[in-house]
Amino acid sequence: MDSKRLRIAMQKSGRLSQDSQELLKSCGFKINLREDRLIAHVENMPIDILRVRDDDIPGLVMDKVVDLGIVGENVLEETMLERQSQGLPTSYKKLKDLDYGGCRLSLAIPREEEWTGVAALQGKKIATTYPHLLKRFLAEQGVTFKPVLLTGSVEVAPRAGLAEAICDLVSSGATLEANGLKEVQVIYRSKASLIQADTELYPEKQKLVDRLMPRLEGMLQARE
Ligand code: ATP
Ligand code: ZN
Repeated sequence: MDSKRLRIAMQKSGRLSQDSQELLKSCGFKINLREDRLIAHVENMPIDILRVRDDDIPGLVMDKVVDLGIVGENVLEETMLERQSQGLPTSYKKLKDLDYGGCRLSLAIPREEEWTGVAALQGKKIATTYPHLLKRFLAEQGVTFKPVLLTGSVEVAPRAGLAEAICDLVSSGATLEANGLKEVQVIYRSKASLIQADTELYPEKQKLVDRLMPRLEGMLQARE
């Protein structure tokens, strides 16, 4: 890969892909995105778009393998806590909070159960994709729990007898509802975010970023 080209990592397919593509296009990027391609070249600027799973994006930025990344703060924060526990580098620069990808990470329990507060979760099994964020939140309340790690179908865990509660991303709450669960406690609010590797970029790359940021800010302001 040409190291003079600015590398931006974004989610290949999922909830952030469409909005991220549109944001870049509105900043003047001419992108030819073919479904099967990992890398897409921006035709009118020295920029390559890396299309990966969202979970990989914070690590790519923290390892300085890409220059910029667009990712949900939930994934960013969870990855940071995980890497901290592994002694891996965790630094990055936040360039901009974006105006999409809004969601919350919440605790939910079976609808029919009474909620008396987080203390009732002491020692319970909680299914989640975000064990570190959950641990940080519950530790602040003096609560310990048994994490049940699931990267998908978290909401079926209580019914399947795998856990007593879940901690999962919610936007409308329809998925919880459909699975007989109720949201009882928000533990983290998230939005998409543009981040940069914590390192000095090649001057040409930095100039490009400096040129793009006002455009991006203008776009975001116009949408407010
Ligand atoms: P990938 O295949 O890239 O790993 P994924 O299944 O982990 O995808 P998505 O469901 O596409 O991820 O969600 C990507 C991000 O979108 C989330 O991490 C979160 O920041 C944001 N998001 C916004 N609303 C929601 C929601 N209702 N549920 C889940 N994620 C949401
Ligand atoms: Zn993911």
